[in-house]
Amino acid sequence: MTLRVTVWNEGRHEKTHEDVRKMYPEGLHQPIVNFLREQGMQARAATLDEPEHGLTEAALAETDVLIWWGHMAHGDVQDAIVERVRQRVLEGMGLIVLHSGHFSKIFKLLMGTSCNLKWREANERERIWVVSPGHPITEGLGEYFEIPREEMYGEFFDVPAPDELVFVSWFQGGEVFRSGCCYTRGRGRIFYFRPGHETYPTYYQPEVLRVIANAVRWAAPSAGPSVTFGQRPQPLEKLG
Ligand code: ZN
Repeated sequence: MTLRVTVWNEGRHEKTHEDVRKMYPEGLHQPIVNFLREQGMQARAATLDEPEHGLTEAALAETDVLIWWGHMAHGDVQDAIVERVRQRVLEGMGLIVLHSGHFSKIFKLLMGTSCNLKWREANERERIWVVSPGHPITEGLGEYFEIPREEMYGEFFDVPAPDELVFVSWFQGGEVFRSGCCYTRGRGRIFYFRPGHETYPTYYQPEVLRVIANAVRWAAPSAGPSVTFGQRPQPLEKLG
């Protein structure tokens, strides 16, 4: 089965910040889209300023895994679309939330906490340690990998305890961060992955792309039984 992936990017920094446009001339989503296509997946981009943010009912119905990057315009995402995405996650669509997506409406709604954290922009080295070496999201990685320059995110990260913690980041300045967190909500699998500040070439780095592709495979819906809710007047066994 060919996995169908929608890479959602807010796409505002590219319009307003020259340095971001230079770093990602086709949009921050494009290197991710290109890599997933190289991996044999059917990947498309969607951005905030498209009608319905590019996340129509039809588009979501044909999405196995949704990747989400947002930062400066979380508030511009319509609540009705957020609810639509939430429903799809509960039905089984995978969701991968990247970097500053920690403050997106959809992530905060699904987590139920503030999702707040510490941050600093100081060109620091990030060393990302694998803490679940058997986990499919770590396939092909070493014990750790490094990103030469990134924004720092530090603990405490106000999210629910993850079902599985896959990565812990160390930063040059001394902070640490739970940078790869797995959750399930309804039938849907959610992965939060920290790296990806818009002024750094993070989404060109092979290990980062590898993690995202691994996470797509992990988060893809499985063919379990369909679920029904509500009143069940007919018991399976005879009563009384
Ligand atoms: Zn950032």
